[in-house]
Amino acid sequence: MRVLLVEDDEPIAESLTRGLSRYGFEVQWVRTGAEALTAGDFAVVLVDLGLPDMDGLDVCRELRARGDVPIIVISARSDEVDRVVGLEIGADDYVTKPFGVREVVARMRAVLRRAQPALREPATHGRVRIDRRGRRVHLDGGEVELTPKEFDLLAFLAEDPGAVFTREQIMEAVWDENWFGPTKTLDVHVGVLRRKLGDAASLETVRGVGFRLVLT
Ligand code: CA
Repeated sequence: MRVLLVEDDEPIAESLTRGLSRYGFEVQWVRTGAEALTAGDFAVVLVDLGLPDMDGLDVCRELRARGDVPIIVISARSDEVDRVVGLEIGADDYVTKPFGVREVVARMRAVLRRAQPALREPATHGRVRIDRRGRRVHLDGGEVELTPKEFDLLAFLAEDPGAVFTREQIMEAVWDENWFGPTKTLDVHVGVLRRKLGDAASLETVRGVGFRLVLT
């Protein structure tokens, strides 16, 4: 998934680019508003407010005037006015420096979910068909019996096949928003899904991070 990062602070941009690529995002980094406005199409845009050539809010406004790409403002300014203005002119969310990559990824996934009504339509990935509204999964045309949590786990990972989700992200999304603690139950569910989907899907363990789903 392609991400445009508009940020003039090199250390922040480099660490964010590195961090996001670990999660499977393909980041294009530009330093100025002018470059951002000629960079082309992306799945999501991250915009710093303090840019050398123009105000990041104007970049947001211009991007919003052109289309509905999800925009997340990243800023050192923490005051409420900027936040409100950013959201009013069409940014979808806001993170304040300093932030962690995980926080940015979580917000990106949230805005992408809201921006993709297509996720509510049945989607076929290789041999696997996922119907989110009907909560049914078919493999090679035959229905796969899944428990509610097995379905939620598969549907969540399948929102972005190939991308890495951390254990914490998965636990929060599938089990409980405020979930902290051991994640053994996740391993159990991953094991069951691997068995039920066989070689149509590969639930890969990314050591020290989490899991990624590859549908074949
Ligand atoms: Ca800046």
